[in-house]
Amino acid sequence: MEIKIERTKNPKTRPSDESKLGFGNYYTDHMFIMNYDEGQGWHDPRIVPYAPVELDPAAMCLHYGQEVFEGLKAYRCEDGEVRLFRPDKNMARLNLSNDRLCIPPIDEEFAVEAIKTLVKVDEDWIPSAEGTSLYIRPFIFAIDAHIGVHPAKHLLFMIILSPVGAYYPEGLNPVKIYVETNYVRAVKGGMGFTKTGGNYAASLKAQDEAEKVGYTQVLWLDGVERKYVEEVGTMNVFFVLDGEVVTPALQGSILGGITRMSCIEILKSWGLNVSERRISIDELSKAYDEGRLLEAFGSGTAAVISPIGELRWGDKVMEINNGEIGELSQKLYDTLTGIQWGKIEGPEGWSVKI
Ligand SMILES: *Cc1c(COP(=O)(O)O)cnc(C)c1O
Repeated sequence: MEIKIERTKNPKTRPSDESKLGFGNYYTDHMFIMNYDEGQGWHDPRIVPYAPVELDPAAMCLHYGQEVFEGLKAYRCEDGEVRLFRPDKNMARLNLSNDRLCIPPIDEEFAVEAIKTLVKVDEDWIPSAEGTSLYIRPFIFAIDAHIGVHPAKHLLFMIILSPVGAYYPEGLNPVKIYVETNYVRAVKGGMGFTKTGGNYAASLKAQDEAEKVGYTQVLWLDGVERKYVEEVGTMNVFFVLDGEVVTPALQGSILGGITRMSCIEILKSWGLNVSERRISIDELSKAYDEGRLLEAFGSGTAAVISPIGELRWGDKVMEINNGEIGELSQKLYDTLTGIQWGKIEGPEGWSVKI
C-alpha cells in the first residue's frame, strides 16, 4: 500500500525551549490515518495535517472502549541519524492487543513503514537536547455509529507524534511506590496483557489516591489473592535480590514490556541469574528484612529505568538502597539509553535507522 502524503500549509510554531517540553504537551504538524471497513480491510493509508477527527456520538469506542494503543520513541542521535528502538516488537504487541479486543490485525511491517514515513515528514520536530525524544503513539479505535455491543466493522488506525522532554532532567531520581492492596488492575483471562485504554481507566483511582499520600505510582498485586507482585502503573518491575534478579512472570495479567524484554536479555548477557517467576509481597518483605533486597526498579519506554527508592506496603515502609539509585539500575539505564541514542552497538535489530 502506498502512503499518500498531504503536507500542512500552516506549520505550527515549534516549542523553542526543549528543557520545558514535558510529556505529551505538544503534537507535531502531521498524523497518519488509515481506515478499516469490513469487506475492504485496512485501506487508504495517508499522512495529513494534524487535526481533530470527527466522530459520530454513537461511535463505539466512546461507549465500550474497543481501543488499543502503543508507545515508542524516535531518538535523534549524535551521528545525525534518527533511530527507533525495536519497533517490530511494538507492532507485534499491537496485534496481540488487537486479537484480544476483536480488532482486525494490521500488517506489522507496513505499520513500521508508516511510523518511519511519518517521523520523516515531521523530522524537524525531533528535539535534540540530551535525553529528549519524539514519542510515537499508534492507536486503533472503533468508529461504528452503533450502540449495540459487538465487535466493530469500522475502525481507524492513527499515529500521532509528540516531542517529549528528558524524563530525568536532574539525573536518575528514585521514586516512591505504594503497594496497592485494595484496588486491582487486571486478572488472568482479562486484558492485562494488552495495551488498551480500559486498563488505564481501571487504574486511575488507585493512582490518584497514591499521589495524595505522596507516592508516584502504585505497585499492583495479583487480582485474585492480592499476594503476588504484578507491575507498576506504567512500568514492569524488577527486584535485585542477592544472587538473583527477579521480575514477575507474564501470565496474562501483566503487560509484556519491550523494555522489560530488553532488560532480561541484557542482564542475561552479563551472566546474571534472571528469573521470570511469581514473587509474593511477603517474600519481598522478608528479603528486605534480611537485607537481601538490594535494588528495585521499574522499566518502560517513557522512563527507561526508574529506580524505586521506597516501597510502602500497609504500615511497612521499605527504603531500598538508602533511597539511592543502585549500581545495576544505573548500568542498565546507561546501556539501554546508549543503544537507543546510537552510542553503543546493541544486538541485531534493536536500533532501527529511519
Ligand atoms: C506500556 C506499558 C509498560 C511498559 O512497556 P514498554 O514496552 O517497556 O514501554 C508496562 N506496563 C504497562 C501497564 C504498560 O502499559
